[in-house]
This record gives sequence, structure tokens and C-alpha cells, in this order.
Amino acid sequence: MPPKNSNAPEWEYVKVLDASKANKYLECLLCGHKYYGSASRVRGHLLGIPDRGVTRCLKAPREVKVAPRAGARLHGAQGGLAGVGGV
Ligand SMILES: [Zn+2]
Repeated sequence: MPPKNSNAPEWEYVKVLDASKANKYLECLLCGHKYYGSASRVRGHLLGIPDRGVTRCLKAPREVKVAPRAGARLHGAQGGLAGVGGV
């Protein structure tokens, strides 16, 4: 069962293969990487947060929207990088 906070967008990027434990077994829908973890680790994977104990997603688009919870320092998300079409 997904957690109650259904507004957690990170879950749209993973498929829960086994939710029977606290650390769910997840499969990334973008790159196919399978790992154990919770929402914070999903964000760690998608955003490449190094201290989450999960490898970074190689397929996560730049605009992946995984709204950080309180405590995250993300200022001016719509900053001056409009129209970066480099890839
Ligand atoms: Zn991935």
C-alpha cells in the first residue's frame, strides 16, 4: 500500500515490487534500477543525493519534480535556467 501522503510525486517514478517491509522493494520506472528504500531514497535516486545510499538515476529528466519536504533548501526553482536545451 502506498503511504497516505498521495501528493508525494516521487512515487510516480517507481514501481513497488514488494511493500511488505518498511523498506519497500522498488523498481525505477525510468532506468529499471531496483533498490530497497522509502520515499527519501526514491528522491535520493532521482535527484542523485549522495548520502541516501542509492545510486543516482541515469535517466531522470532534469525537470523531474520531486518536491522536497521541509528542510530542503531549494530556492528559486524557476531561476534563470529557462530554455536549457543542451541534451
Ligand atoms: Zn532510475
